[in-house]
Amino acid sequence: MQTTEPPRQSDKDVIFEARDVSVSFDMEGDESRVLDSVDFDVYRGETLGVVGESGSGKSMFASALLNAVVEPGQVTGDVTYYPEDRDPVTVTDLTESELKEEIRWKEMAFVVQSAQSAFNPTMTIRQHYIETLEAHGVGRQEGLERARELCRDLYLNPEQVLPSYPHELSGGMKQRALLALGVILDPEVVVLDEPTAALDLLMQRAIVSLLADIKEKYDLTLVFVTHDLNLISLIADRLAVMYAFEFIEVAPTERILNDAAHPYTRALLNAVPTISAPISTMTGIPGSTPNPKDVPAGCSYNPRCPIAKEECRIDDPQLDPIHEEHSAACFYPDEARSEIGIPATGGGDDEEGGR
Ligand code: SF4
Repeated sequence: MQTTEPPRQSDKDVIFEARDVSVSFDMEGDESRVLDSVDFDVYRGETLGVVGESGSGKSMFASALLNAVVEPGQVTGDVTYYPEDRDPVTVTDLTESELKEEIRWKEMAFVVQSAQSAFNPTMTIRQHYIETLEAHGVGRQEGLERARELCRDLYLNPEQVLPSYPHELSGGMKQRALLALGVILDPEVVVLDEPTAALDLLMQRAIVSLLADIKEKYDLTLVFVTHDLNLISLIADRLAVMYAFEFIEVAPTERILNDAAHPYTRALLNAVPTISAPISTMTGIPGSTPNPKDVPAGCSYNPRCPIAKEECRIDDPQLDPIHEEHSAACFYPDEARSEIGIPATGGGDDEEGGR
């Protein structure tokens, strides 16, 4: 396994450090970037919500963190993983077999959107758990005891779930069984890609709440990728908003909800229902996310931005700090706050923006 010690850019306890990370696909001879030179730190023990519309690059970021981008996608740049008790590891330098042997599941788990496709329909849930345990040299008895405890943590009856085939479980039960599989080898980090997208609203809320409990109990770092800003706001410490294959705003959750500085983040806040604002006040975001082969010049959001100016069509704003722990890629964050209202969250500091 290769190790490296790149310069640290934060005084926080960093668990993942992504530097100049891109993901490209060769499309008919043209290179299409679906993640564009991203620099990002994930902090140990946090719940990070990675938010954006479909096609924004958020799933590619999740896959790149774990060096799990599927061919023919090509990852460039470095992702460094900092284990708590040993040397750092450059994840992007590991081969597939090194990843499987050393890191995947044992230290980093990936929970995907569709439990239906993640499980083999011809195997029981118990057989899936045993297969994972044995592949990583964990004793069957000890591992299954942990699986039973995880099932109980997730309000599943292990006596019912373990002998069942996937099709015998409801969607919510399958997704919880998949979460248990993700945590069965006691990883440090769990990356979840839209883990509740196929479920109804109540089950989504229930699973997110259980996830927060599991995170505390097993001392996990969570990276939760979703289009649902409201849902992830329930449990995230920090939100990172993606647009056109890069991060455009990053801040603690409360700050995003009360004082988002990027017009796109404010548009996202207006596009989702809240408890305090009636559904009639929701407004969709006009236009659509850019195609990777046709990203607008200057600020990539400029064709959709209600406060865009000439400068925005020429220069590309960088993700710069605008406040402690709050960065945004916009030339006019103050104007965004004063011109684009957002729903009041009750207890926020953005009275101006509230409705
Ligand atoms: S830089 Fe300009 S176009 Fe981009 S979000 Fe800010 S105001 Fe809008």
